[in-house]
Amino acid sequence: MEEPVFDPRELGLDDELVFACHPGVPCFNRCCYDVHLVLSPYDFLRLRRALGLSPEEFIERYGEVYIGEVTQLPVIAVHMNSHDFACPFLRPEGCSVYADRPSACRIYPLARFVRRDPETGEKVEVYRIIRETHCKGHYEKRPITVRAFIAEQGLEPYHYFNDLFGEVVARRQRHADTPLTGDQLDLIFLACYDLPRFREELKAGSIETELEKPPEELTEEELLEAGIRLVMEKVLIFD
Ligand code: SF4
Ligand code: SF4
Repeated sequence: MEEPVFDPRELGLDDELVFACHPGVPCFNRCCYDVHLVLSPYDFLRLRRALGLSPEEFIERYGEVYIGEVTQLPVIAVHMNSHDFACPFLRPEGCSVYADRPSACRIYPLARFVRRDPETGEKVEVYRIIRETHCKGHYEKRPITVRAFIAEQGLEPYHYFNDLFGEVVARRQRHADTPLTGDQLDLIFLACYDLPRFREELKAGSIETELEKPPEELTEEELLEAGIRLVMEKVLIFD
């Protein structure tokens, strides 16, 4: 796989990139091969729901679960096909899960970095353009602001949930020397990825957390938000 090269320039939301991706580009579908496609909890929710699969069924058919090297958090990644290294969701006409494709597929060719302003503590988003020689979308003469590109790609809810889960990852990175117990790992997987079972455990009263509604009335998005907050407030307590 070729190493991505970043433009040196950092872009804000109102800066422009010149890019378009559509079935007419000569490289159409080229970037859907040999990808290390890690799914965030929200990516996983969207994809498995679109496919009508339970978490176990999705993992059995399309994915693998492993423990992250630094964070020791559970990670779900999509397995590429063994015969041609294509993403299993790729079809000749394009992505078969386009409406629910993961955030990494939506945001390309941008990379997003979120920092805290050291003085105000406020969140600052910056973007950089990834240049890979196989990607001809950069030659399409379509200027678009980063803000408009994000809206076009439906990235807003992905950014919301990925930032929320990013706090879990950042806390683990800060406490990487403290190993997680098996029980902690199970609860993190349950609350962030196995939402149907998480709902059942909440209904049974075996996990206590504050909820705005009875568990059976929560949408899966609300359940995921409650799960990530539970992990932050009750599982990853190191201080
Ligand atoms: S999910 Fe869709 S867009 Fe993403 S790599 Fe697979 S086929 Fe390509
Ligand atoms: S390589 Fe670039 S332009 Fe070509 S299909 Fe992928 S994102 Fe679109």
